[in-house]
Amino acid sequence: MSEVQEKVSNVIKAKEVDPKFKYKMSKMHGAEKVMLCFQCGTCTADCPIARFSEFYRPRRIARMVQFGLKDRLLSDKALWLCSNCFTCVDHCPQNVEIAGIVRVLRNLTVKENKVIPLVYTVLASNLLKGGYVYEIREMHHKKRAGLGLPPLPKPNLEDIEKIFQITGSSNLLKGVETFEKVES
Ligand code: SF4
Ligand code: SF4
Repeated sequence: MSEVQEKVSNVIKAKEVDPKFKYKMSKMHGAEKVMLCFQCGTCTADCPIARFSEFYRPRRIARMVQFGLKDRLLSDKALWLCSNCFTCVDHCPQNVEIAGIVRVLRNLTVKENKVIPLVYTVLASNLLKGGYVYEIREMHHKKRAGLGLPPLPKPNLEDIEKIFQITGSSNLLKGVETFEKVES
């Protein structure tokens, strides 16, 4: 993207702004303190992902929430780069929980059927089918037995399905748009 294109894409249009978004976010567990962010930049300076990414900036996420840029945030693939290491939470002088804000935004992304990484749909599908996020094959069971390990517990698939419905996780499997890679 050229410098001019980047500047144009950074311009905020009035129709993009959801003025109530910051209040809605402030009521969600983990994002309560988002309005306390005063843009000191400590989270970005200390974030291990921001160190290697041109796009991922935790400070910017907090600012975008304050500005009400909900659609931009929910369609931003960089949101999925956060590794949930909680360094930003530990270092923020205002006790803002960027990791919690990212979690809330990711949940909203799934709820509103925006684009999500393919891997989550694969993990969810495995969980529903077999009770584990990874497919456990016969050879794995045999390997465990060979090592003298007890058999894996039998998952309750009915309960897992209920949990999916109650938590809205079924949205992960309802033909959401997916992507495989995030440009860093
Ligand atoms: S460290 Fe806290 S106050 Fe500073 S920019 Fe990050 S979230 Fe905002
Ligand atoms: S939790 Fe996410 S945003 Fe915070 S420091 Fe770790 S990778 Fe960066």
